[in-house]
Amino acid sequence: MPYRQYIASDAWLTSPARFEALRSAGFRCRLCNAPSSEIPLQAHHRTYENLGDESPDDLTALCRDCHRDVHNFLSARLYATLQPPTVVDVVIHARAPLFDASFAGEAA
Ligand SMILES: [Zn+2]
Repeated sequence: MPYRQYIASDAWLTSPARFEALRSAGFRCRLCNAPSSEIPLQAHHRTYENLGDESPDDLTALCRDCHRDVHNFLSARLYATLQPPTVVDVVIHARAPLFDASFAGEAA
């Protein structure tokens, strides 16, 4: 099942592993300690190796804001290690004329 479909599924929302990750954190964010009564808690996947059959150790309880920040951090770290794309060959196909003669007549 694709990730986005799985995350929206009842299987994920009722996952015992997800519940255990939230319960073992005291229903508080593991980063900022915000309680679930103040902000929605989410279960962050530390790994996707067992997607659909997670264990509680695969997950970390985070509030919505910390979850977003963690993913931003992880993305930034990933992209920092990637080599920038190199352009080997660029072929420009000019299908339209670079100069439109019909406008030249109006301006004059
Ligand atoms: Zn938080």
